[in-house]
Amino acid sequence: MIQLTVDRKPVEVEPGATLLDALKSAGREIPTVCHDERLAPSGACRVCLVSVEGQSRLVAACACPAVEGMNVTTDDPELIESRKAVLTFMAREYPGERIDAFPEKGFHRWLKLYGLEHEAQGRSDRDRLDASNPYFMFDRSACIECYRCVRICSEVQGSFVWQIVNRGPETRIVPDSLSEMAQSTCKSCGACVDSCPTSALVDHTRWREGLADSWTRTVCPYCGVGCELEVGAKSNRIVQVLPARDAPVNKGHVCVKGRYAHQYVHASDRISEPMLRKGGEWEVVSWDEAITFVASRLTELRNQHGPDSIGILGSSRAPNEDNYIAQKFARVVLGTNNVDCCARVCHAPTAAAMKSILGTGAATNSYDDIERAETILVIGSNPSVNHPVVGERIKQAKLRGANLIVIDPKAIELAKYADVHVQLRPGTNVPLLNSMMHVILEEGLEDSEYLNRRIDGVEELREFVRDYAPEKVGPICGVCPSTIRDAARLYATARPSMSVHGLGMTEHLQGTEGVQCLVNLALLTGNIGVEGGGVNPLRGQNNVQGSAHMGCEPSNLTGHVAVSSAPAAFLERWGRPLPEVQGLNLMQMLDAAEVGQLKAMWVIGYDVYLTNPSAEKTARALESMELVIVQDLFLNESARLFAHVFLPAAASFERPGTFMNAERRVQLLRKAIDPPGNALPDWEIMQRVAQAMGETEGFSFADECAIWDEVRSLWPVGAGLSYARLEKGGLQWPCPTEDHPGTTVLHKDRFPTGERTALKQITYIPSPEVVSDSFPFLLNSGRDLYHLNAATMTGRTENSRLRPTDTLDILPSDARRLGLEEGESVRIVSRFGEAVLPVRFDRGLRPGEVFATFHSPKVFLNKTTSTVRDRVTGTPEYKRTAVRIERLR
Ligand code: SF4
Repeated sequence: MIQLTVDRKPVEVEPGATLLDALKSAGREIPTVCHDERLAPSGACRVCLVSVEGQSRLVAACACPAVEGMNVTTDDPELIESRKAVLTFMAREYPGERIDAFPEKGFHRWLKLYGLEHEAQGRSDRDRLDASNPYFMFDRSACIECYRCVRICSEVQGSFVWQIVNRGPETRIVPDSLSEMAQSTCKSCGACVDSCPTSALVDHTRWREGLADSWTRTVCPYCGVGCELEVGAKSNRIVQVLPARDAPVNKGHVCVKGRYAHQYVHASDRISEPMLRKGGEWEVVSWDEAITFVASRLTELRNQHGPDSIGILGSSRAPNEDNYIAQKFARVVLGTNNVDCCARVCHAPTAAAMKSILGTGAATNSYDDIERAETILVIGSNPSVNHPVVGERIKQAKLRGANLIVIDPKAIELAKYADVHVQLRPGTNVPLLNSMMHVILEEGLEDSEYLNRRIDGVEELREFVRDYAPEKVGPICGVCPSTIRDAARLYATARPSMSVHGLGMTEHLQGTEGVQCLVNLALLTGNIGVEGGGVNPLRGQNNVQGSAHMGCEPSNLTGHVAVSSAPAAFLERWGRPLPEVQGLNLMQMLDAAEVGQLKAMWVIGYDVYLTNPSAEKTARALESMELVIVQDLFLNESARLFAHVFLPAAASFERPGTFMNAERRVQLLRKAIDPPGNALPDWEIMQRVAQAMGETEGFSFADECAIWDEVRSLWPVGAGLSYARLEKGGLQWPCPTEDHPGTTVLHKDRFPTGERTALKQITYIPSPEVVSDSFPFLLNSGRDLYHLNAATMTGRTENSRLRPTDTLDILPSDARRLGLEEGESVRIVSRFGEAVLPVRFDRGLRPGEVFATFHSPKVFLNKTTSTVRDRVTGTPEYKRTAVRIERLR
């Protein structure tokens, strides 16, 4: 520790601390304007001047390192005058009326504390106001040129939108469009607004609705990054959302969805009362009537057709507690293992693959390893779009010197920064990864010491991958053999190497096997069990990891314990034998419904019809059932067309609970506002139905905490994750006891299954979905930055202005060949169906391949997607459908 004095008071700070940190430790606060703790020190504004004994000049506290023995003075009258002079200079053209209107802004606070409000004599000028962004406005007349917006956009967000033009008195900050924000490359993350110390950058909602009355810390409702938010509410409405500054995951940053896409909770078409479809029309009913109806129909169908005639779908958008109740309801009340969740259509192959080799179906490392990795391999994932906060951390790590390999059919944003981009053909992950292992073993780049100590099957794998030489595999994958060699060498030699992967790995015929190859690669190079390494799936929705881990899986109970080897604790706690018949997964449930075997389905927080592939097939299945119950915030497409009952759920901002993010971190969500009307948390609805079906003993929880305590009693590695501990911050499992610190890196010394594990040999099996003369293009599908999946939530926010429609992205040369113009609507036709959507040019695609997002019910892309499924888990092959493109005129 470094010892020094501040205004004659002794203080201690960590090595590397600045004088501003020392002042904070001493309880001294001085004005800062250009300083933001998320940014590298700049010292440009010279407001935080202090004097240091023995130094002739005043120093900027934010940029001066603390040194042993320094004597620092902050309260000298000369210093105060000097700060006043700088603040007065900054305020000379500032619109004074803003100071009281936005008391939370740092510059305003300091002007008031130093009695300088009257120095702000400027006027706001409508001609200098840019309100073109749907979420925030930029008023140049309130800009004091502190450059925090410029710096946070580049240093944290990595978008480089804000530019400084001209020099001296003519200096101006402008977006990269050199015109309106709306024309710029801004991704609307709001970091500049959050950092701006004046009213130059202000959220529209803050202008319109004023300052929030209450602030509640909770977790983002969107992706599996799990950013923590501060939610500002006023009169039971969310008026502003800010990033939690000290959150371990997002470290004071969020993306456009987390920060701005929250107004769906107040949407006019939010359903807040239960409804039954009577005579073909929806009718609002009381909870008593809805519960009685659901309970009696489920009882009838179970008695008539047996428990396995009913299926339950938990939700990756719902908290752990609700998913636990969903699977307990299926197993205890109905007596079936027919329970699944939307992990089936995304990362089920990841969980299966990782469990099959490593013994745990979850990320081995933490997001903080991004900054520790020497090399980052991004495969089948576009984090800048789908997991933006992680994407920006990867980009920043690269800009600070890490190596970056991107393996993706598209030149995604990170590919522009990559040392190696392997632009492979969709569906060829297995031969590509086998080929990388071929190079590593051929060139002796494996980690022999690690392999000797922990891994079996090395010689067998060496023999197996001999057949996957880059010269043979290159043409299969559509890449140059030397590129495969470059990627293999970099991954194997610049260690630790960390991989992050997404649905480009899992949504294939060989989804599970592809991830097994990725695990093989990591083991071969000693990258499992080390900081800065590992295999790390980026989970799609916020609680994909949690919903499956709570037991919303047909073959696994809570804690990912196989149904076939259920511990006695379940029997004791649930008070009855568990159903023995293997359950159906989501895809199998729909197959069974189509042939009349599944009679009822209860779907929680998931739009099956819009989201599943081959929509015609999904429609046939949903139409066939006698009872479809949809529980959601809105009448989604599945509910609108097929449901018999709609049960209104509370949103995550409207109730407590826990989410589990993609790095195994369990975090508390807290209630910021009340739910509308009579909407209820999902677990409470299911508990009421259970009670109406005569199950009171195991379904009499008082609240979410009581449910979570039951989860902990059945899940030994999560037993230490009490609400009381989570209140102080999220923790990563395994965390078996209340004094365990949680686990950031798995498999350090051993695997759950033992000290050693074995590599797998995975033979490449090409997808049957291939191009032909009738269907000459290969369609890949995925998400967009502004929307999540069926856009149930984002589609009811201003994000729809930022991204109004799905698009068909196509290489300009392919488009020209077809005579297509950008923006023109086309029909894409596959063997499964067709959809109409506008064309967008994308130079990052491979010839003959197109890419489309699938969010809009109007476009309904999943009418075209293929029926091929992962060979192990049944996850659909969304990433590869042969199509033709037809002009509409
Ligand atoms: Fe939410 Fe994901 Fe964006 Fe974070 S990165 S704010 S969790 S959508």
